[in-house]
Amino acid sequence: MFEIKTSANFEAAHRLSNYAGKCNRIHGHNWKVELEAKSKKINNQEMVLDFTVLKEILKEFDHFLILKDNKENKKIVNSIPKEWIKWLSFEPTAEQLSKYLSKKIFEKGTLESITIRVWESEKSYAEFTVKHK
Ligand SMILES: [Zn+2]
Repeated sequence: MFEIKTSANFEAAHRLSNYAGKCNRIHGHNWKVELEAKSKKINNQEMVLDFTVLKEILKEFDHFLILKDNKENKKIVNSIPKEWIKWLSFEPTAEQLSKYLSKKIFEKGTLESITIRVWESEKSYAEFTVKHK
């Protein structure tokens, strides 16, 4: 079994709309994302997964304001340029981002499993694992 690990960072702001506390306000993080993938096979490039895949995918979030697409958020960001915002169908929590990224990257390879760990700060992360059925 092959196993690869890599990590990458992105900077982005977000807010949690369904949350009573300071994370309800727009604030930023230097997010760190770790990837661990296992595969019995290597692809025609003789890799499990190109290490650059993670960095490429994170461009989707880098220097964006990440928000759940709902009425409340639409009203709040009314005057912010559209191209600064990444709308999601879910709250931009570390949990949901790790699930979103692991499912997206899993589709790109013939992997046995992938784990994505999203660090919101130096002390806190959430991770999600997708395993081959
Ligand atoms: Zn936050």
